[in-house]
Amino acid sequence: MTTTPTQQEAEPDDDLDSALVTARRQLERAATHVDVDPGVIERLKHPTKVQQVSVPLERDDGSVDVFTGYRAQHDDVRGPYKGGLRYHPEVSAEECTGLSMWMTWKCAVMDLPFGGGKGGISVDPKVLTEDETERLTRRFAEELRDVVGPTKDVPAPDMGTDAQTMAWFMDAYSMQQGETIPGVVTGKPPVVGGSYGREEAPGRSTAIAAREAVDYYDRDLSNTTVAVQGFGSVGANAARLLEDWGATVVAVSDVNGAIYDPGGLAVHEIPTHEEEPEAVLAQDAPETISNAAILELDVDVLIPAAVGNVITADNADAIAADIVVEGANGPTTFAADTILEERGVAVIPDILANAGGVTVSYFEWLQDINRRQWTLERVNTELEEHMLEAWADVREEVEEKDLAWRDAAYVVALSRIAEAKATRGLWP
Ligand code: GLU
Repeated sequence: MTTTPTQQEAEPDDDLDSALVTARRQLERAATHVDVDPGVIERLKHPTKVQQVSVPLERDDGSVDVFTGYRAQHDDVRGPYKGGLRYHPEVSAEECTGLSMWMTWKCAVMDLPFGGGKGGISVDPKVLTEDETERLTRRFAEELRDVVGPTKDVPAPDMGTDAQTMAWFMDAYSMQQGETIPGVVTGKPPVVGGSYGREEAPGRSTAIAAREAVDYYDRDLSNTTVAVQGFGSVGANAARLLEDWGATVVAVSDVNGAIYDPGGLAVHEIPTHEEEPEAVLAQDAPETISNAAILELDVDVLIPAAVGNVITADNADAIAADIVVEGANGPTTFAADTILEERGVAVIPDILANAGGVTVSYFEWLQDINRRQWTLERVNTELEEHMLEAWADVREEVEEKDLAWRDAAYVVALSRIAEAKATRGLWP
């Protein structure tokens, strides 16, 4: 079934903001800084299509459950829809739509030839066995088969999904199409057309964004303290790279809480969530603090790399870091953003900071189409180049228009999207 794009308008109720409400409000705010046809802004408030599917699953005990899956396709003026699939109990049409809007901006900021998509299944992946996850994924791929494809819409991993999920998705799609089509999804294992460096890429770009921000504000990484909320792939890779580059990571957390050592943690020795789930509190550290307290630590750089809506109007005044680098998608609510801006806290937005994931997804898609794998060195070199170019484009808007980093990133993205829309025209 194809539902019509959700039409309800944003309610200014900060702490309960859905991704869609936040995304629309951010768009409206950014539109005031850029000379774009209001018709384009109006079109961008609505997704092109939101697909809703039922995904029946035979459980290991023989019983049957039916889950609801979605794929929101926001805008494809610059190329195929692109974005992750999440398995999480809070997945909904509205959440996928908001997240798909962020993907449109993210791809445009990075100047990738993609639009924005996002999807997933409303399910707690922790209650599924591996066999059940495989069956669910294969059936989901079949239900989405008509709307995805290398030139239409290219999913990728997101919360609750990983490289193996993408391999199953690719296999199910390919078997039905009658040929191996690795470019239907990205984030696959390298042995089936995945790219080296894809898994680490969002953490790597988050670290690059932190490094550039520290440099921009005339500081030195070797005198920089960092707190990282979330020790999954994004948080752990960002923490490890920043440590390698000379920063002192004083606190990290997972869903159970945080560990804190003012002298610095040996972050390479802490297993990531993927290596050993929920292992952070089992590490030796002088202090254990809560997941709320890690956000308020007196550090130079705070990296929220767990879930959305963690910096809100309730705690924005208590954020002691000077620089916030968004490793997660949507960790800062719209109201919190305003408070942080008034307080002079620089927020490097998700659509720039964690865009390494989709950038290396683009490299993977190119490798799949060309049937030619790149070396890890080439991937990391080209990622660094793309990040520095995007950073320079956004910095120019920050400086020229005296904007916050998020508004500047939106201006870069919106200008590119609006130009593409004006050039293609509205049909009929
Ligand atoms: N899910 C990731 C994101 O939010 C990656 C998307 C992709 O690689 O297509 O950026």
